[in-house]
Amino acid sequence: MYKKLSDNRVRCHVCNHRCLILDGKRGICGVRENRKGKLYSLVYGKIIAEHIDPIEKKPLYHFMPGSFSLSIATIGCNFKCLHCQNADISQISKEKPEDVKILGEEVKAQKIIQDALDGKCPSISYTYTEPTIFLEFALDCMKLAKEEGLRNVWVSNGYMTKETLDLITPYLDAANIDLKAFSEEFYRDICGAQLKPILENLIEIKKRRIWLEIATLIIPGKNDSEKELKQIAEFIKNELGDDTPWHVSRFFPHHEMQDVPATPIEKIYEAVEIGKKAGLKYVYPGNV
Ligand code: SF4
Repeated sequence: MYKKLSDNRVRCHVCNHRCLILDGKRGICGVRENRKGKLYSLVYGKIIAEHIDPIEKKPLYHFMPGSFSLSIATIGCNFKCLHCQNADISQISKEKPEDVKILGEEVKAQKIIQDALDGKCPSISYTYTEPTIFLEFALDCMKLAKEEGLRNVWVSNGYMTKETLDLITPYLDAANIDLKAFSEEFYRDICGAQLKPILENLIEIKKRRIWLEIATLIIPGKNDSEKELKQIAEFIKNELGDDTPWHVSRFFPHHEMQDVPATPIEKIYEAVEIGKKAGLKYVYPGNV
């Protein structure tokens, strides 16, 4: 999904970065490359991770509970989170997008569906890294999955464009989307992105009747003030509904955020209380 411009430049419209990409260069995610005015996905069918997980691990607690989900990913991400928990497969080169090594095993979409059926998984989750950046492969799997009666789940940062959301909506059954913070500063400085499009997408996903659960990793000193947690909880309650589950999880030092201590357990239970006080029916502590 891109637009061809003059001088063999292209504009990618898959996620809200809407990268302008010169000939021979890649977008921010490092996995889409402009070759003479044509934009190629370099990760189509290049699977870096494939596992069978409990659906609760996504985390989704209200969607097919007790079931297993075949979970897949390619490399790459459109965010640069300093605290990324899967940096070994998502943040392969942050110096230059062109340095991202396209690793992964060549797999056909049909094989993914067969693996889900063989593994008795009633759903497929597009997860671990960011499904938006492997949109074309995810979409092909989603279509085939539907033909076999399987459900599709996205675990995402929610930074897809409206156009991408339109493409996946007919095949998407459930999503767990991160609401990492409630400030533009956090998204800009820690993730290299913006908050506003994510809030808009969350409202849109809910409107489209896709099952939605929200996850927030609580990081000491970064997004853990009472005010910010209250803002997140109230946004969920007022804009998404009080039956939208909120998962508040403990942070552990990771990737480029080794200098920040793990979240005290009491902080997680404080967040649970804030969520409940705001009127949310389902608030779950994670990583405790
Ligand atoms: S998917 Fe990649 S290339 Fe496209 S807009 Fe997002 S970061 Fe840029």
